[in-house]
Amino acid sequence: MMSETQDTIFGKIIRREIPADIIYEDELAIAFRDVNPQAPVHVLVIPKQPIPKLADAVPEDHRVLGHLLMTAKRVADQEGLSNGYRVVINTGEDGGQTVYHLHLHILGGRAMAWPPG
Ligand code: AMP
Repeated sequence: MMSETQDTIFGKIIRREIPADIIYEDELAIAFRDVNPQAPVHVLVIPKQPIPKLADAVPEDHRVLGHLLMTAKRVADQEGLSNGYRVVINTGEDGGQTVYHLHLHILGGRAMAWPPG
């Protein structure tokens, strides 16, 4: 699908072509605040490598995928989410994904409901 192979707004954030509130970066990943926060803390963690969605990941991506989870933990610690938090990956149309550059949502600062909508 064209929309899943083209550059996204997150690619522009990685390249500093559009502004974002970046709170963490290393060689594999970058984390920035969601522009439309759904909780007091809402951070997105993305790989610099543009995997469109989790369903497209291949076994060779295991290192970066593990790194994203460790980055989520690091960011949660950095944000002081000692009472817990939620990590979400929306995948594809039914998953509610809107930006086709794989990303983890880190949500915290309030109690989360279950099940999600
Ligand atoms: P998803 O629906 O899982 O694909 O999530 C995409 C997320 O990206 C949404 O929560 C948006 O609010 C967020 N978002 C879109 N554009 C930007 C941007 N320029 N900076 C920060 N967050 C963004």
